[in-house]
This record gives sequence, C-alpha cells and structure tokens, in this order.
Amino acid sequence: MTIKISDACIGCGTCSSICDEVFEMDGAHAKVIAQKDIPCVQEAIESCPVGAISK
Ligand code: SF4
Repeated sequence: MTIKISDACIGCGTCSSICDEVFEMDGAHAKVIAQKDIPCVQEAIESCPVGAISK
C-alpha cells in the first residue's frame, strides 16, 4: 500500500482537513506526510473532488 496524490490535485484542502495525520497542504498541492492506512484515508479518497488520491 502506498498512498499517492496525482497531479490532478487542485489544492482544495479537503484531504488535510479530514485526515491531517496523513495529508498536509504544500502550497497549491496536498502531500502525503505519513504512509498510514487509517480510516480517514479512505474518507479522504472518497471526498477528493477530482479523485486525485489513491492507495
Ligand atoms: S482533496 Fe484532492 S484536490 Fe483537494 S487537496 Fe486533497 S488531493 Fe488535492
């Protein structure tokens, strides 16, 4: 399992607000700060408006 954010990310901030243990905003993109498969990762995947998160 590797959590990834694609170039499709539009920097909306939803993932980092849902799951700040794993996602952090870095300018106009989100980045993964920890490879932890915790439940909020799936929630962030389902909430990303452009489907940019995968694992
Ligand atoms: S929810 Fe999706 S579009 Fe929004 S910051 Fe996270 S990865 Fe980017």
